[in-house]
Amino acid sequence: MNLNLPELINLYFAALSFAWGACIGSFANVCIYRIPRGESVVKPRSHCPHCGRTIAWYDNIPLFSIFALRQKCRNCAGPIASRYFFVELVSAAIFMLIWLRYGLDARTPVYMLMVLGLVVGSFIDVDHLILPDRITVGGMLIGPALSLAFPALHGEQSHYLGLRASLIGLAFGAGLLGLIAGLGTAAFKREAMGMGDVKLMGAIGALLGWQACLFTVMLSSLIGAGVGVALIALRSKTFGSKIPYGPFIAIAAVAWMLGGSDLWDAYIRFIMMPE
Ligand SMILES: [Zn+2]
Repeated sequence: MNLNLPELINLYFAALSFAWGACIGSFANVCIYRIPRGESVVKPRSHCPHCGRTIAWYDNIPLFSIFALRQKCRNCAGPIASRYFFVELVSAAIFMLIWLRYGLDARTPVYMLMVLGLVVGSFIDVDHLILPDRITVGGMLIGPALSLAFPALHGEQSHYLGLRASLIGLAFGAGLLGLIAGLGTAAFKREAMGMGDVKLMGAIGALLGWQACLFTVMLSSLIGAGVGVALIALRSKTFGSKIPYGPFIAIAAVAWMLGGSDLWDAYIRFIMMPE
């Protein structure tokens, strides 16, 4: 391999983004556990869910400690769930991919923050079938504020146009999913999607624009249908009678960040072709 200096620096920051993502994933694990229980996400320090002993910093190193401890608490030998590792690894990988795609850009830190919200929201939805307002309404408030500060998030130059794109995205996302949720409830005589999903799509629109909402609705319903069919085929009882929809929305929104927007641009170029 023959790397020049800019490439080396880029790889260095990619590795740094991976490590940073693992740390944020570790924080996401805390949020996933504590937010639904109404606990503070900053204090007290992490403790073992089995024996209550505070976890030492060297037993709480993202991606590593779980192996060093052989998935057992040092104090009581209670099991440590594999999901902690999974959440850290997924966050680390997505953070690295965001850096590799956007580099030094306003979108990089904003998308990383979004990934934290999407990961936390998804796993809370899996555990409790709710999407907390702290995540969804939080995103609907932060989206327009960040778009006003960084209009480049929506490919705009002026602050006003950034804010406008964000508010259009918010209204479009929440409106579109609200419509689908309403039609779904009318068709199936039961609530297939909740207000949490509607608010989450509003937040995605506010941060990624209305085009992202169209893409996210299409891709998430494809994933949801695939997962639904697989669960029926496997006769799985993983989710009982109700499947959380938030994770599918989150996966689709991340897919938009990491390449879906290119597909969209290619599609627009295709239909706009003069001949
Ligand atoms: Zn313990």
